[in-house]
Amino acid sequence: MPNAKGYAAAVAKAPLQPYSFERREQREHDVAIEIKYCGICHSDIHQARDEWGGAIFPMVPGHEIAGIVTGVGSKVTKFKVGDKVGIGCFVDSCRTCEQCKEGLEQYCAVGAVWTYNAKEKDGEPTFGGYSNKIVTDENYVLRLPDNLPLDGVAPLLCAGITLYSPLKHWNAGPGKKVAIVGLGGLGHMGVKLAHALGAEVTVLSQSLRKQEDGKRLGADHYYATSDPKTFEKLARSFDLIINTVGSDMDLNPYLELLKVDGSLVVVGLPDKPASIAQFALVLGRRSLAGSAIGGIPETQEMLDFCGKHNIVSDIEVIPIQKVNEAYERVLKSDVRYRFVIDMASLNAN
Ligand code: NAP
Ligand code: ZN
Ligand code: ZN
Repeated sequence: MPNAKGYAAAVAKAPLQPYSFERREQREHDVAIEIKYCGICHSDIHQARDEWGGAIFPMVPGHEIAGIVTGVGSKVTKFKVGDKVGIGCFVDSCRTCEQCKEGLEQYCAVGAVWTYNAKEKDGEPTFGGYSNKIVTDENYVLRLPDNLPLDGVAPLLCAGITLYSPLKHWNAGPGKKVAIVGLGGLGHMGVKLAHALGAEVTVLSQSLRKQEDGKRLGADHYYATSDPKTFEKLARSFDLIINTVGSDMDLNPYLELLKVDGSLVVVGLPDKPASIAQFALVLGRRSLAGSAIGGIPETQEMLDFCGKHNIVSDIEVIPIQKVNEAYERVLKSDVRYRFVIDMASLNAN
């Protein structure tokens, strides 16, 4: 008998529909969680449409999970019933490779077990957070700050850590000029976090439509990339640019916005590869890099940082019945700035 319910895509590009399925029995190291909220990441849409290839269906997406512990296995030491907890993009990894030992499980040599659209070590498919419950090993569960609301905190589990990790790695802070390309789910967290870290923050958005919001979120400057003058004016300006755009775009004009020794870090994941002008890198000793989410220790550090600085995502809470509509709006960049599903709405089905 299925013991969990959620929403799933039956095949690539199919609208998500109610779906009942089996979660595993709680094991001795497991935490059972009632999911209260789950954010909608653009990666959910890429995968439900199989834009990255190899997708596993039926697919229950969702890796920005916030909930409450309802049960703990006999060997669980970190959590107890009633705790506010989160799960991000992965639920297991090999635990023995160099990266896993360093707490960089997202770069696990064998491959992390993604929260959905993946297989557990025993071959069972993983199902994500657009559902009422989940059972996960305690080492892949995060503690949520008590002072932050569960709905606003959910997007930190992916959007938050995906920006926090490169901001920290490339030393965003006082005296550093940081640009965030794209003011969507990831981008708006980048603005908040870079500002809280003390950097001077610029938003590079397609238009000036969201300029007021950008300033409110913590940006010092805001420019439209549709205006060619932006690229003249900002040439050689930034120490760090983080590109959150998930559609095909020419990265070369952005390389020209870096100072000598500056870095352009891509976190957006379009399905087509980029073409790079080596001259832009060479004549400026610039770096082009990528970054994926963050490991468990850094995700916990980010959550604690957000608790201390009172940072959550700006969200629009929706019932799960509106998930397909929300996907369409994300694709039109019509979201301010993250959709979060209220899982109580599952009871209406
Ligand atoms: P999102 O909410 O849709 O935001 C993307 C933003 O990019 C949009 O709001 C828009 O901002 C801008 N944009 C969209 N289309 C564009 C185009 N054609 N040209 C230029 N700018 C465009 O998406 P998200 O959830 O933030 O995710 C963004 C990307 O990051 C996705 O590809 C996702 O899969 C990927 N991702 C990567 C990681 C990682 O670990 N590296 C983690 C999570 C997600 P403006 O309106 O301001 O221009
Ligand atoms: Zn995500
Ligand atoms: Zn590993």
